[in-house]
Amino acid sequence: MSINLPLQAPSPAGLIWQTVRNEQAKTPEARAEILADPGFGQHFTDHMVDVCWSEKGGWHRPRVTPYGPISLDPAAAVLHYGQEIFEGMKAYRHAEGSIRTFRPYENAARMQRSAKRLALPELPSEIFIESLKKLVEVDGDWVPDAAETSLYLRPFMFAKEAFLGVRPSKKVAYYVIASPAGAYFSGGVAPVNIWLSTQYARAGKGGTGAAKTGGNYASSLLPQAEAYEHGCQQVAFLDAEGNLEELGGMNVVLVKRDGTLVTPESDSILEGITRDSILQLAADRGHTVERRAVHIDEWREGVASGEIVGAFACGTAAVVVPIGRLLADGFEIEHSDSEASALALSLREELTGIQYGRVEDRHGWMLRLDV
Ligand SMILES: *Cc1c(COP(=O)(O)O)cnc(C)c1O
Repeated sequence: MSINLPLQAPSPAGLIWQTVRNEQAKTPEARAEILADPGFGQHFTDHMVDVCWSEKGGWHRPRVTPYGPISLDPAAAVLHYGQEIFEGMKAYRHAEGSIRTFRPYENAARMQRSAKRLALPELPSEIFIESLKKLVEVDGDWVPDAAETSLYLRPFMFAKEAFLGVRPSKKVAYYVIASPAGAYFSGGVAPVNIWLSTQYARAGKGGTGAAKTGGNYASSLLPQAEAYEHGCQQVAFLDAEGNLEELGGMNVVLVKRDGTLVTPESDSILEGITRDSILQLAADRGHTVERRAVHIDEWREGVASGEIVGAFACGTAAVVVPIGRLLADGFEIEHSDSEASALALSLREELTGIQYGRVEDRHGWMLRLDV
């Protein structure tokens, strides 16, 4: 292994980074084979970022190392009490070759909010951004260039102190790994069917619903399996009062007849950056946008009366997906309005246009990572 000893000057975030090159990195041929059909979350790049935090030393020892297993004490708090958070974003290859990501300061800020809720240390935005750039510096060749492909970036943080007492960990690890992602939809964006879970909730008032933490996903797996049994690809959750919250990993937006977009607002929803961006683009086009409590009866009755003509789900992985049917124990909603799904798809096209550099970035959302 060749180690660049820390002779460099501190980075803009005040850290001295160490890079350990992966001597077993994939050959260009092996990489090209993976990039030709990457799927999602199955293949990983040659390196990862690893930064330590301790109560005494704060953030320290930032490194880029070969991608590989993490050694953890069996008593590490994350394995017992789930003190963990993550982020999800994409790096896009633009036509002239540059590598850019979308609204990363929003991800950094959300990770800080998640950290606060999970009693983890807040990673400064400068270090967050620097960690993405450091990984792209060594693994930039892993950003694919085919249409709708990207390099999915997964920053995450967990409690690694070996201690079984219940309190916030005094030792924490922050990592970034990256995984090439193929086009989410091959052959046109297909509408999804959604199962409405009435038996299970993903979050509760005052809980961790607004934090991007593994526990929310753990509790969504059983209802997700129930969704599959009902022939649905995704599950939708309600709060205790019957207000619509979101899907397992995507936000929901309803489309009204007059073009108004309505999305649930609640402190137990994960605030998606995709949703925020789509709603901004819609507002720019003159659509009215409402962020407020949305009872499931409003959706049901609105579809029956013709007031609600469609719905879509949104998140980084799939971007925007029209919702075809909503199934529940006792009722079924079917969206068949072609204009509503055309609106969802045209907002999707505009957003991906900005992300891939085909459409002017008038809000200054893109950040270059390969410089
Ligand atoms: C990440 C996530 C979303 C979508 O957020 P984006 O920033 O748009 O990717 C929505 N819901 C949940 C539960 C999530 O974890």
